[in-house]
Amino acid sequence: MKIAQSFSRLGTESAFEVLAKAKKLESEGQEIINLGIGQPDFRTPQHIVEAGKKALEDGHHGYTAANGTLELRQSVSAHIKKMYSATIDPSRVLITPGGKPTMYFAMMLFGEPGAEIIYPEPGFPIYESMINYSGAKAVPMYLSDKNNFSFNVKKVLSLINDKTRLLILNNPQNPTGGLIPKDQIDELAKGLEQYPNVAIMSDEIYSRQIYDGNKMPSFFYYPKLYDRLIVLDGWSKTYAMTGWRLGWSVWPEQLIELVTRMAINSYSCVSAANQVAAIAALDGPHDFLEDMMSKFNKRRKLIIEGLNSIDGINCNNPGGAFYVFPNISETGLTGAQFADKCLYEAGVAIVPGTSFGKSANDFVRFSFANSYENIEKALEKIKNIL
Ligand code: PLP
Repeated sequence: MKIAQSFSRLGTESAFEVLAKAKKLESEGQEIINLGIGQPDFRTPQHIVEAGKKALEDGHHGYTAANGTLELRQSVSAHIKKMYSATIDPSRVLITPGGKPTMYFAMMLFGEPGAEIIYPEPGFPIYESMINYSGAKAVPMYLSDKNNFSFNVKKVLSLINDKTRLLILNNPQNPTGGLIPKDQIDELAKGLEQYPNVAIMSDEIYSRQIYDGNKMPSFFYYPKLYDRLIVLDGWSKTYAMTGWRLGWSVWPEQLIELVTRMAINSYSCVSAANQVAAIAALDGPHDFLEDMMSKFNKRRKLIIEGLNSIDGINCNNPGGAFYVFPNISETGLTGAQFADKCLYEAGVAIVPGTSFGKSANDFVRFSFANSYENIEKALEKIKNIL
């Protein structure tokens, strides 16, 4: 067999490797507390599950339009209007199996040898992987714990040159939990007006997971950029629906036909019954979200205080998502050594920082998508082994 060269450039998401190691230890009888996982530890709200079940009973068994049903795309438009007072025609909405295909399509649209794509580092590993796969040059935009993982707008803009095709942003961020404040995004959006050839992909998958009373600093607030703006969001994190594989994205008018063709060439459409459930999620009650966020917030405080009370660990204060990304360099260990020690000696699964970028050797990612009690226990165990 001769495999295409491009596959030698394809990366992976090593959080899944941590999960596999943890599962192996569990199967050998060890108790593992999993703080490596990137999904809410809640069940999908019952009214959404019921809507999905009913859709199957009602015969939603066939293909739908490749870009998603009109009813669902209208529901997404109404959601965007409600959240950001932005008017987005449903024809610009693409329904995808999870958020990831949006990244894939964006990278396939803009990436090729000779092109450059800017991405956050540390960041969601699929960005760098897909840029490399496309053949484009991956240009890191470094984020530092010195400023709570925000960025310097001038520095970001200085990365742009005439080969730059796409700028990727993720806010709130995985893995750091950082929330780039609205005034920084305002400044960046203003600066980007000077670069009309650069498209923007704003990954806003954690848009409803924000703390301290802040509002989501969405790119939907900048209509001047709409003709080159891609916004990625979805149901996975907000509605605890990672396994349903449901995402949505908004594309410039000029691109929607092309990405719909990508959908037709790959997955045809998203499961018909799941699209009905997705409408129930967007249009239905949202009180469970408050409950989920109040639990996340309590755990966030616990984990920040707990980690900062351990010698050698310096933990940032995340403004969003459900991750913390502490600097552990003062323990004398690298992030990878620290994560292994936690797993094999304390039975706590976490992800080394380098899974999210080469610059993050001194960091590890803790997810607080686990119960308060388990987080308390995990902190105690880590304190003991150190
Ligand atoms: N974007 C970011 C920043 C993520 O962390 C994730 C999942 O972890 C995704 C997108 C993909 O989400 P989905 O499971 O909907 O494909």
